Amino acid sequence: MDAAELDGNDPLADKRSCFEIPEGVIYLDGNSLGMLPKSVSARVSHVVSREWGGSLIKGWNDHDWIGLPGRVGDKIAALIGAPAGSVIVADSTSLNLVKVLSAALSMRPERKVILSDTGNFPTDLYMAQGLISTLDKGHELRLVEPEDVASAIDETVAVLMLTEVDYRIGRRHNMPELTSAAQDVDILTIWDLAHSAGALPVDVTASKADFAIGCGYKYLNGGPGAPAFVYVRPDHLRGFEPSLSGWMGHAEPFAFDLEYRPANGIDRMLVGTPAILALSALDAALDVWEDVEIGDVRRKSKQMGDLFIKEVEARCAGYSLGLFSPRDATKRGSQVSFRCPDGYAVMQALIANGVVGDFRAPDIIRFGFTPLYLKYAEIVQAAEILERVLGQKLWQDPRYQKKAKVT
Ligand SMILES: *Cc1c(COP(=O)(O)O)cnc(C)c1O
Repeated sequence: MDAAELDGNDPLADKRSCFEIPEGVIYLDGNSLGMLPKSVSARVSHVVSREWGGSLIKGWNDHDWIGLPGRVGDKIAALIGAPAGSVIVADSTSLNLVKVLSAALSMRPERKVILSDTGNFPTDLYMAQGLISTLDKGHELRLVEPEDVASAIDETVAVLMLTEVDYRIGRRHNMPELTSAAQDVDILTIWDLAHSAGALPVDVTASKADFAIGCGYKYLNGGPGAPAFVYVRPDHLRGFEPSLSGWMGHAEPFAFDLEYRPANGIDRMLVGTPAILALSALDAALDVWEDVEIGDVRRKSKQMGDLFIKEVEARCAGYSLGLFSPRDATKRGSQVSFRCPDGYAVMQALIANGVVGDFRAPDIIRFGFTPLYLKYAEIVQAAEILERVLGQKLWQDPRYQKKAKVT
C-alpha cells in the first residue's frame, strides 16, 4: 500500500484533529515532547481562572485537587496494564527513579549490585550514582552492553534497572523475558517506560515488573516538564519505607504528626504538594486515549518506521547515512535513528525546512513516530525533504552549524 492508501485505511486518522498542529510542520519529535492536545488549553485556562482564581484554597477539596495525582495515575495505569490504584503521578522521572531504586535496594539489603546497561538514559544512571553515594553502603552500578544484560543476571544483583526502549536508537528490550530471568534469582526489576507508555502495548501486570516509571511529556503529550508517573506492584507497596518521606506520602498528612508514617497505598510515592496546573494539563491530554486501541497505535508506529526506513534508504542511498535502529520493527520502539556525519547541521537544516526531529550526540539524527497525530503522507514528505537537504547540501549553511543549548 502507498501512503495515501495507508492514510485512507488508518483507524487512528480522526485523532489528528484532537491536536493543535502548526502549519508547515512535520513533527517527528513527539518522543521528546508530544504535541498539544486541543483539550489542554481550555482545561488549563479553566483551572487557572475558575478553580484557582475562584476557589483559592478551597480548590483542594472542592475540585479534589488532592486526588488528582491518583486520578491521572489511573488513566496512565490503563495504558501500561497496571491495576487502578497502583500508579501515581508526581515529580520528574529522575526523582521517581530514586524513589523506586531506594525502595528496591532496601528490599534486598544483602545484595549490592544495580545492573543496568550502557544504552540507559543518562539521568537514570546519574541518579543511581548519586543514590549510591548518599546511601554509602557499598553499592555498585554495574553497566553492561544492552545485548549482554541477560547473561549478566546473577544472584549478586539486587536490582535490574532498565529502560525498555533505548532513547537513542529505539532498541527494545524484552521486558517479560528479562523480568522473569531476574526474578528467577530474586532480583527486583525497575523498568523506565519513558519511550514505551503511549507508544506500544505495555503490560506491567503480565510481565510482573516490580516497579516502573516514565514521563508525562513524551507520548502522553502532557506538556513541557509534565509530571512523571510511578508504578509499584501492589504486593510490594508495604514492603518498603519511602526514602523521600514527604508529607504528601504520609498516612495522614493533615494530622501534622511529628513522625513520618507512610500511606498504605501508592500515595506513599508522593513527596510534596502536587503541581495542579501541570497535572491538569496532563489529565486533559490523557483524555485523547480514552477510545484508542494501543494495538492500532503499535501497528501504525511499526508501519511508519518501516516506511520511513524504506523511503530514506531509497532516496538517500548516495549519502553516508547508516540505519542505527533495529531494522526489525518488533525489536524497535516508535522511533528510527540514523548515524549521519554532520548530523547536527543536517537536523538543523531539516527543522528549517519543516521536518522536526532531533539530534543526539555524537552523530545521530532521530525521528519519532506518534501515530495519534501523524499521517503516512508526512513520513514520505519527510524523507523527500531529507533527500533535498542532503542532495543540495543545505546543511552546509553556517547558520546550521552553531549548537543551541538544547539539541
Ligand atoms: C526522557 C527520559 C527521562 C527524563 O527524565 P526527566 O526527569 O523527566 O528529565 C528519563 N529517563 C528516560 C529513559 C527518558 O527517556
